[in-house]
Amino acid sequence: MDGGDDRKRGEDGGPSAGDPGVDAANVLPYARQWIDEDDIAAVTAVLRSEWLTQGPRIERFEAELARTFGVAHAVAVSSGTAALHAGVVALGLGRDGIGITSPITFAASANAFLYAGADPVFVDVDPVSGLVRVDSIEEAVECRHRAGLPPGVVVPVSLAGALPDLPALAQVCRRRGWRILEDAAHSPGARRAGAVGEFASAACVHTDAAILSFHPVKHVCAGEGGAVLTNDAAVAEQVRRLRSHGIVRKPVTASSPADEGPWFYEQHELGFHYRMTEMQAALGTSQLTKLPRFLARRRALARRYATELASSWFAEVGVASSFDEGCAYHLYIVHFHDERLRLRAYDWLARQGIRTQVHYIPVYRHPHYRRLHPMAPLDGAERFYRGCLSLPLFPAMTDEEQTRVIDALRVFVEEEGR
Ligand SMILES: *Cc1c(COP(=O)(O)O)cnc(C)c1O
Repeated sequence: MDGGDDRKRGEDGGPSAGDPGVDAANVLPYARQWIDEDDIAAVTAVLRSEWLTQGPRIERFEAELARTFGVAHAVAVSSGTAALHAGVVALGLGRDGIGITSPITFAASANAFLYAGADPVFVDVDPVSGLVRVDSIEEAVECRHRAGLPPGVVVPVSLAGALPDLPALAQVCRRRGWRILEDAAHSPGARRAGAVGEFASAACVHTDAAILSFHPVKHVCAGEGGAVLTNDAAVAEQVRRLRSHGIVRKPVTASSPADEGPWFYEQHELGFHYRMTEMQAALGTSQLTKLPRFLARRRALARRYATELASSWFAEVGVASSFDEGCAYHLYIVHFHDERLRLRAYDWLARQGIRTQVHYIPVYRHPHYRRLHPMAPLDGAERFYRGCLSLPLFPAMTDEEQTRVIDALRVFVEEEGR
């Protein structure tokens, strides 16, 4: 996933302490946070301070996020999922609206539409990169425009740290009044060259807003947490309001009783409780300073995977993507030639104490979505899903640990060849 519990030790079908032959201390996860003493000091300092929630550290974290990603506003919330929900609502999605996203993502990207009372529409992806196809989105947008339906919200997912063609997507969406919320949970620091020059993830130049997640497997860890980034002051203000029940402290309408008293507040719409704590904000701020270092390490590990797996031995069983220096490498995904090989590789690596994961089972396959929105499988998404496997990749991973993964894969290929 990401988000969720599938990487808790032993819960994702991988080896656990209970598996015979696998020493729990020797299990290599597919992802893990990297917490240093200065992160711990930042959090314990909060516990000795006056504010535990909605205090100065939230403001500081938001200011640092805005500066890092070059946006006018950042609003911190309790999770990436909360950011998606508040974000799509702030972009105008409501009951009977339409949200378009990729099926190759964590369920949260589409769940946000359901929370808002809108209908999810899944469009196809490129079978190699897993990135949503702009022409598929265009088809979905144009088809609804012809049917006389009002515009909705598109959530492009920057999968594994790679960016979809956001400038092209912006053209398609602006023409028909659709708004764009980039799911940048995988991609802080990612950039890509486009027809109109380079563009960056979460910068909100070609999109209306972006969301980040601070789950421990993501680039910046806050324990749990998320943020909505935007250059649109109205969107930021509404997310701020939605994060705290829809309550405001200053009179906002002419009918608001301004002279009520200093205790004044009033609820203007039904919001949520999506606030982040000061402890999370302090951890997030401390981790954010390390983003360049974390990114450099992720890229170095990805470069080595790409180099080693480009060799002919790996071609016997699968395809490894070539190195892309703009990619933020939340994941390094390889593609096995078929699903049986992928399953055997997963099991083989698990027996060596190496955890891998599949990102993702197409969201429309989940029983909840099958019940609500039955649809025919999408060809690109099915082809991507069939062979994909994410190898261990996280900044704290050592060269020796990576060697262990590559050597285990080499032995797997030899065994397959017998
Ligand atoms: C992690 C993730 C989310 C949700 O973030 P949480 O902080 O776990 O709620 C959303 N989309 C994608 C693509 C993710 O990987």
